[in-house]
Amino acid sequence: MELGATVCAPRNPQCPVCPLMADCKTRGEHKTPRRAPMISRAVGYALSVRTESEAGKRDGPGGREVLLEQRPAQQTVMPGMWELPILLRADVPEKDLRMTVRHAIMQVNYYVRVRTVFEDDIEGMTVEAGSAAGAAARSSRDGADGTGAQGADARAFVTGSVDG
Ligand code: SF4
Repeated sequence: MELGATVCAPRNPQCPVCPLMADCKTRGEHKTPRRAPMISRAVGYALSVRTESEAGKRDGPGGREVLLEQRPAQQTVMPGMWELPILLRADVPEKDLRMTVRHAIMQVNYYVRVRTVFEDDIEGMTVEAGSAAGAAARSSRDGADGTGAQGADARAFVTGSVDG
């Protein structure tokens, strides 16, 4: 018999009819801990794309390059992963939105807003790689556990496939 499915249900244990009642230590008195309330965080990312000809590689295959930055190797969360640069302002105006994503991790709902940023504007609109502002932005985004306490290690355009 699946006791947990039929008798000892987490929120409604049927102790009086349970075959284990004589030996059970709790007899239904253990409460299921309440889940921590979900919190929301807004994060903005910059999508900066250039063609290889814009980058001066006129002999290349004509592909596109995307600006990415690398998380520090010391971070406990996704060390060394490449990601889009973080925008200074997460409140991207609707007219500038490229896409939005809601992504839930543990008790945090991330509301991610991505906007197109031209290469010439990238320094003014994103947190500087390796800067204190970058470290603060990462710490705020990744949580207050200190895992996001560094800025990015590197920032570079890499060949990628981006539609639109
Ligand atoms: S007696 Fe114990 S095992 Fe049986 S239903 Fe109650 S809590 Fe679950």
